[in-house]
Amino acid sequence: MQRLLLDDLDGSNDQGALLAEVRRAVQASQRCIVITGAGISVSSGIPDFRSPDGLFQQLKQKYPSSVSTGKDLFDATLFGDPGMISLFYTFMGELRNLISRANCTPTHAFIKEMDEAGKLLRCYTQNIDSLEKRIGLETSLHTSGDSPDISTPSSPPPSLVSDSSVETEDSTAADKKTRAQRRRRQTTLDRTFTRAVQLHGDLDNVVCTICHTKYPFTEQLAEEFCEGAPPPCPRCKEIEMIRDLVGKRSVASGVLRPDIVLYNENHPQSELIGTLSEYDLKRRPDLLIVIGTSLKIPGIKRMVKEMAHSVHACAQRAKRAGAGKVIFINRDEPPKGWESIFDYYVAGDADRAISLLPIVPSPATEEARPAAVVRRKRVPAAKRAAGITAVAVKKKPGVSLSSLLAPTNGRVDAARKLAASGAVAKPRVVPRKLTSMMKVVKSSVTVKRQQKALPQSPSSSPVMTPS
Ligand SMILES: [Zn+2]
Repeated sequence: MQRLLLDDLDGSNDQGALLAEVRRAVQASQRCIVITGAGISVSSGIPDFRSPDGLFQQLKQKYPSSVSTGKDLFDATLFGDPGMISLFYTFMGELRNLISRANCTPTHAFIKEMDEAGKLLRCYTQNIDSLEKRIGLETSLHTSGDSPDISTPSSPPPSLVSDSSVETEDSTAADKKTRAQRRRRQTTLDRTFTRAVQLHGDLDNVVCTICHTKYPFTEQLAEEFCEGAPPPCPRCKEIEMIRDLVGKRSVASGVLRPDIVLYNENHPQSELIGTLSEYDLKRRPDLLIVIGTSLKIPGIKRMVKEMAHSVHACAQRAKRAGAGKVIFINRDEPPKGWESIFDYYVAGDADRAISLLPIVPSPATEEARPAAVVRRKRVPAAKRAAGITAVAVKKKPGVSLSSLLAPTNGRVDAARKLAASGAVAKPRVVPRKLTSMMKVVKSSVTVKRQQKALPQSPSSSPVMTPS
């Protein structure tokens, strides 16, 4: 693993050469996988979790008697402790308000740019801020020939009037039917539709703990969350009312919770996400970029290692120079044991790092070009007769450290513009049609022929003047 220190770039040629290598890896890639963590959203105003001044430490200082580790607030076991439940709801309400005010960052714009250029195989994010969705990357899982949103309740809703205690056989049959339907849906999962997979869900919706009905996480609900009390589920309340009217005994009624996946909980769509990641592995990714994560969660560690293995296998087959690399961009060093997984560790701020990584070579910083190419230009016959044996060849611009450090400010502008408009970013590159290009070439050739056919005016002007 080679270390590229962003703070040490200005004066070091070694670091400049290393940056050129990292750039080449990005530019050579045609099938890139990006895995992100909280570090990419810090500049949007959402604190990360594990850094010394991150969310966990802030919570520990704020609630020293209730929170032993910040992780407690993201663990499913918290629902067994009323004090922790209150804290969890207050925190989630505040986090939702913070996210609703947050803007996409240049790193989000970079991922979107990779997608628009056709270089992104998929982004996998641990973040629950849904900024990927806001910048225009599709996050829902889509099945062909079925409902676009397959985030249906994971268990049948409670019966309106029958007693659940006497319908065990029916429930079992219904469970089997639901499982069979889910299996069928999985086989028709549109595997290229989802551009960013939210591994832990997001705070766009809340979900009932009993009937699993989803509702938008509105400002009003966020206010209720901030009070520290779980809001009751409207649907369960309605069912309770109807059962009461027809004289049936009351059944358990649910409350609303954020639609995110906590520690010690299974992701309701884990099978589908597994299908997508297996599919991506089979497509032979040629670049893996891991950004802004501390690599502490076992599931993420496994995913990064599997993807990295596949990328390195691709490197052995790849013919393109620079392809098949694994890049880790983070403020903190990767944990011990990751040196053989990552080819490059870019130490520093995610936004700054990606600002130095244009996804296509620009004429001024084209690293792919050999440093010195000796070319001979044909000497015209007239000049040869006059004894001239060589003519000057225009020198092409070389690669300088200062040119490598020129940031790609377009992404900053794109993220800002998007934040200002609230709209989804449009594709940056508009392909020119071949037919229109042919027309331009044709008309240019015709004009040149006409000019040749005309007698030269004294001033050699190509403009036709009336005789
Ligand atoms: Zn409910």
